[in-house]
Amino acid sequence: MTGKSSMQSSYEVSLDAACDRLGYTESTRRLLSLAALELKVEIPIVRDNGELAVFSGYRVQHQNVRGPCKGGLRYHPEVDIDEVRGLASLMTMKTALVDIPLGGGKGGICCNPRELSTRELEVLTRKFVKRIHREIGPNSDIMAPDVGTNAQVMGWIHSEYSAIYGHSPAAVTGKPLALGGSAGRDKATGHGIGIVIQAYSERYGTPLEGATVAIQGFGNVGVHAAKALTDLGMKVIAVSDARSAVYRREGVDISALSKQKSERGLLADVDGYQRLDPGKELEVECDYLVPAALGGVINDENAPRIKAKTIVEGANGPVTSEADKILRRREIDVVPDILANSGGVIVSYFEWVQNLQRQVWPLKQIDDELAQILGNAARQVFDHAAQKELDLRSAAFDISVRRVKEALDATGI
Ligand code: NAD
Repeated sequence: MTGKSSMQSSYEVSLDAACDRLGYTESTRRLLSLAALELKVEIPIVRDNGELAVFSGYRVQHQNVRGPCKGGLRYHPEVDIDEVRGLASLMTMKTALVDIPLGGGKGGICCNPRELSTRELEVLTRKFVKRIHREIGPNSDIMAPDVGTNAQVMGWIHSEYSAIYGHSPAAVTGKPLALGGSAGRDKATGHGIGIVIQAYSERYGTPLEGATVAIQGFGNVGVHAAKALTDLGMKVIAVSDARSAVYRREGVDISALSKQKSERGLLADVDGYQRLDPGKELEVECDYLVPAALGGVINDENAPRIKAKTIVEGANGPVTSEADKILRRREIDVVPDILANSGGVIVSYFEWVQNLQRQVWPLKQIDDELAQILGNAARQVFDHAAQKELDLRSAAFDISVRRVKEALDATGI
């Protein structure tokens, strides 16, 4: 990918519009569009076949005025500096929107984790930490899982960082429970999507019971969202992963599909399910569409064909700014990523606090505090949207940009 990623362009469109509405100067806009620090490192590893391979790794720290930078680490073949930059900016707005004392950062390694053995992934991860350890840590920049990474990868980061600085669990979140991970972190983002949809349904009077849902992506976010929404009485009728998409009007069986995927690596070819062409899960008729895979998947090409009543952004940046305009014209609500998928960073924040205080919180406390923080943030966005007659993304950006600007002002900048 060359030039600005769709993520960075969409971020700048939302940022510019918020700065205009809030009456902020060009220099404020510029400050909020630029990252404070961008790292690119080359990571050589010896593959299992004895050959040398070199991977590019990135870490971008966008803003730390409200607290240490916070954001995931992505392992995917399309990772590049533009994408990481866009994702880091979104994290600044996300932590500000849910009002937790953290800033925004993001990282990634351009690789296909499915083509690497566990040993190769471990060596790659540990070498990445060796390259960037001076810039990360509990008070500066805290990584977490994202696409292609998981608790095991966070465990390796914890181990490598602690080998240099002494036991430092607060340097990374999303760790295995045995290493100071938090109860509820694995399900947090998907569970949070349920909390946001519940708040949306209460505010706009759309019933949850029997409401139909299509979900793109069957990873951490997609699977846990499917479970949370089913628990709320909703009916998940379509799901997909990178290779297949399935549909069942009466509702899919998430446990059976998860079992099939872990045993055979495929979602499709289950009796009673209709197979869909890739991407068509985005176009099924449903009440809620939850894109929970990658960015830019709803764009000017397919936005006119979306049949969902409401889109809830489980992924980061799944709707491009061009698609946003089309969807607004078609009166399809978009619940923005910085609200919809913020459950993950909120529980990461809980994990960081527990690690710093050497505490272990029970799951009930995590669930209750997550529901309170996320429910409040959702209601603030809905209120602001109603007061100013804005779409939900614009309302969310107004709140975040104002909070970051207030913090910058308070430092004397
Ligand atoms: P993951 O790696 O666990 O899962 C990603 C899923 O998307 C996989 O099932 C993969 O097969 C599927 N996928 C990839 N390309 C696809 C395509 N073209 N069509 C359909 N499915 C496709 O990743 P994740 O952690 O679930 O993250 C998903 C999204 O949510 C990302 O945008 C990520 O940035 C965002 N997010 C994740 C978290 C978190 O806590 N993990 C928090 C906030 C936001």
